[in-house]
Amino acid sequence: MQNINEIEELVKLISKLPGLGPKSAKRIVLKLINSKDHLLKPMAYSLTQVYKNVSRCKFCGTLKSNLEGCNNCENKNEKFNKICVVENIADQWSIENSSIYKGYFHILGGTISSSSDQRKEDLLINSLVERVKKDKIDEVIIATSATIEGQTTAYYIQDSLKETNAKVSKLAQGLPVGGEIESLDDGTLFSAFKNRVGLENNSD
Ligand SMILES: [Zn+2]
Repeated sequence: MQNINEIEELVKLISKLPGLGPKSAKRIVLKLINSKDHLLKPMAYSLTQVYKNVSRCKFCGTLKSNLEGCNNCENKNEKFNKICVVENIADQWSIENSSIYKGYFHILGGTISSSSDQRKEDLLINSLVERVKKDKIDEVIIATSATIEGQTTAYYIQDSLKETNAKVSKLAQGLPVGGEIESLDDGTLFSAFKNRVGLENNSD
């Protein structure tokens, strides 16, 4: 194949997406080029729109349109007394789709990890404490994954919430070790929520 820089660049970018390697990236690029008007052009437009108009809410971490307020933490229509804390937006989507839980979400944006350069300050833990106080939250459900990082993060959150009146609970141990929330089936999620365990808080 003749080396065309534009194509090579696009293949390189697409192969960085989750679940895709160079082979499937090439197939995708060919498909796009063969449907220039039906796929490539609208996709280029759509990517620009997402780049311009979608960002993470600085307060609750969810994705929001820059053209509107945040539906997640500024939702005026419905008030809840629970917040579910997750690592990323994919986790929120899984929990939402399973209809197990009705309440606010708080997206940390990662976990505390000693190996990566993810810093505690980058996770939205301070704003979680603020939300709990401001929205008079009764229960914070920590739904971080069953990995060492997930559990370290859960412990740190629990500690940070000591100054609030909220009860803090964690998803049940039924989670497979290393289990990431987004990859759990609805049945497992349901029992993890139903059997969630309260954590010691506010007692001292
Ligand atoms: Zn928000």
